[in-house]
Amino acid sequence: MANLLIIGAGGVSRVATVKCAMNLDTFSKITLASRTKSKCDEIAAFIKERLGVEIETAQIDADDSDAVVELIKKTGAQILLNVALPYQDLSLMDACIKAGIHYIDTANYEHPDVAKFEYKEQWARNDKFKQAGILGLLGSGFDPGVTNVFCAYAQQNLFDEISYIDILDCNAGDHGYAFATNFNPEINLREVSAKGRYWENGKWIETDPMEIKMEWDYPEVGVKDSYLLYHEELESLVKNIKGLKRIRFFMTFGQSYLTHMKCLENVGMLGIKPVMHQGKEIIPIEFLKTLLPDPASLGPRTKGYTNIGCVIRGIKDGKDKQVYIYNVCNHEECYKETGAQAVSYTTGVPAMIGAKLVAQKIWQGKGVFNMEEFDAKPFMEELNLQGLPWKIIEMTPSLGE
Ligand code: NDP
Repeated sequence: MANLLIIGAGGVSRVATVKCAMNLDTFSKITLASRTKSKCDEIAAFIKERLGVEIETAQIDADDSDAVVELIKKTGAQILLNVALPYQDLSLMDACIKAGIHYIDTANYEHPDVAKFEYKEQWARNDKFKQAGILGLLGSGFDPGVTNVFCAYAQQNLFDEISYIDILDCNAGDHGYAFATNFNPEINLREVSAKGRYWENGKWIETDPMEIKMEWDYPEVGVKDSYLLYHEELESLVKNIKGLKRIRFFMTFGQSYLTHMKCLENVGMLGIKPVMHQGKEIIPIEFLKTLLPDPASLGPRTKGYTNIGCVIRGIKDGKDKQVYIYNVCNHEECYKETGAQAVSYTTGVPAMIGAKLVAQKIWQGKGVFNMEEFDAKPFMEELNLQGLPWKIIEMTPSLGE
């Protein structure tokens, strides 16, 4: 039984916290803390009404490491689940080092002033985590997260060697707005407006944003335009999947989303540097966030499915083999269960599962780890039990040709 502190109270947090409250055999005490305490209280009230479970709430500035250490001591937490924003990763990791408790997050660190996605600064804390005798589990969402676990499962159980991986992320949900983002707009727009990048034959190849497009037939969803993006799990998978020749990441976007994004970019609304407006400094992308629908408000409006998975090609028993491992999730069912749509659901459920496996010491170690460094089977079993069932289909090998 573990005492858990969850930081952040957005869509992902709502799902993770509800799911933790559904796993009380693992989590004996849950405290939900965030910048705006009223958002924690609203989630706590939802959980009390739906599940009859009481959780604690608190106000915290996650950028203030010392204040987080105080809160950890006050709550007696043994594990911290970070579902705030990527900007808070380092201060929360440092708080865990000081307090000597395990750390889990769903997205790699980003500096507020530089749109750059890399694990460097989090991996650099490996020695400190080792010395403190604690585990840091990085990227326990869907992608990164479940996609890393799918690759690890394939490596550990389905292949002797893996050569090609394509990660395919499709959100075919319709919220009825001409333009909105399904999770934090700032993080989302920074990610999709950045240059694309993939890894082939030992080196990174950079592309212009949205330069590479393919059509992919997503099971239970249909054919969708999918665009090559850089995504953070590529960095750790390149390191941890041995023998890899190429790995890429694709995400679907509708034409309306792309047209809006291009316009906003052209007029400077995606800028992350301050500009002067009527004598006041504003950051364009932060102002845009104020104008756009709150991702949490999309829940009751979103219909349709997500399909996220990995197509993996390699060798098994001397034969060429290709599999597709994926999960399909229904926006409306996610909303019915947790009050959040499928993008939050597909991230919040794996965040809870990561915390659960660490709490149960099924995944253990000292230092900072990515998801694919652990035995994938227990995580795959939990996905089936906790609302994200997966399928594996064998395909005629074609990836890489
Ligand atoms: P939201 O913006 O909905 O929620 C973020 C929460 O963090 C808000 O409650 C916010 O507080 C809180 N927060 C922000 N800054 C601070 C701070 N300094 N101190 C305390 N709390 C703070 O984001 P999402 O729920 O959509 O996303 C959460 C995380 O999940 C992000 O890191 C995102 O990148 C990641 N993610 C990962 C995915 C994956 O598959 N791996 C997919 C989707 C998201 P306030 O309410 O006051 O604004």
